[in-house]
Amino acid sequence: MGINRLQKLRSLITEHGLDALLVSQPENCRYLSGFTGSGWLLISDNHALLATDFRYVEQAREEASDFEVIRVKGELNSWLPELVSDMGWHELGFEANYVSFSSYRKLSEAIKAKELNLELIPTTGLVERLRSIKDPEELELIGKAVELTDAAFEQAKSIICPGIAEKEAVWELEKYLRQHGSEEVPFEIIVASGPNSALPHAKPTERIICSSEPVLIDMGARISGYCSDFSRTLCLGEADKNFREIYDIVLRAQSAAIQGIEAGMSAAQADELARTIIEQTGYGNAFGHGLGHGVGLAVHESPTLTSNSSDLLVDGMVFTVEPGIYIAGWGGVRIEDVVTLEKGKARVLTRSGKEWRALHA
Ligand code: ZN
Repeated sequence: MGINRLQKLRSLITEHGLDALLVSQPENCRYLSGFTGSGWLLISDNHALLATDFRYVEQAREEASDFEVIRVKGELNSWLPELVSDMGWHELGFEANYVSFSSYRKLSEAIKAKELNLELIPTTGLVERLRSIKDPEELELIGKAVELTDAAFEQAKSIICPGIAEKEAVWELEKYLRQHGSEEVPFEIIVASGPNSALPHAKPTERIICSSEPVLIDMGARISGYCSDFSRTLCLGEADKNFREIYDIVLRAQSAAIQGIEAGMSAAQADELARTIIEQTGYGNAFGHGLGHGVGLAVHESPTLTSNSSDLLVDGMVFTVEPGIYIAGWGGVRIEDVVTLEKGKARVLTRSGKEWRALHA
């Protein structure tokens, strides 16, 4: 699994003029090595090292068979400078977003004190770029996670009825996901009703769900590390004109994006497909987040589908398409599917219907 990924990363390392790259972001480590514990990877043209402390050494040997496992103790500054100079590396890349300022400072001081010929070069997004394009095995696992959230939504339609508290509904959904094969869910499930649904990342409360108000559900499952992400908005009983109008706009915006997205397009253009429709109806300011995000080992990863994104959409990517409209004091509507770019077009992995009506009157 790891060899092909390592080869691709090695080309990037060379392209960036580095002798080696220190990988510290946990999902990046897992992606490259299979190791799910805590540690660091050091990758050069000829070497693939996994540095970890005694708690994880055995696990590392089992999970990361393509890597040479080395046991280290303490923070980076206590072992990295010597190891790197023993290897003869001078230009060491590190992940600028995943090495803390204090680690960086201690590391720099240690290099200086030891008078080593070693330069620390900040990098961003090298492994993330590789991760954004999924191989068939990854696609299959994401597909399983998506299937499980679809099944949980079927349950949701009978769990969520007038009189249940948001928190209770969340717990029932989480139980369902876990009992049907999900690992720890990738984020706290959202069931937000009435005005609470106006908060895109609402926390579940004791609020009792009523008829004729928006009920926003957002949940994900995790299978062998791979995530799904799913949102639907229901209205129990009769929906007023306001709800029907807003729901219809969000649905049209989502369909336009799914149909219009093409490989080769920028992520910003994709965002624009949905945003234009929402703006035309006067709700532009009520769509305050991006159109979507990549999904994989992390529930939010590359690409980022926002109006200021510089990402390019290419075949093999997997991401969400999730426009929403949120009105403070009233509520919100969001509809979210996971899609994959295949033969230049978006193929929708999510199967659930997009009918706001629930069974309960
Ligand atoms: Zn999402």
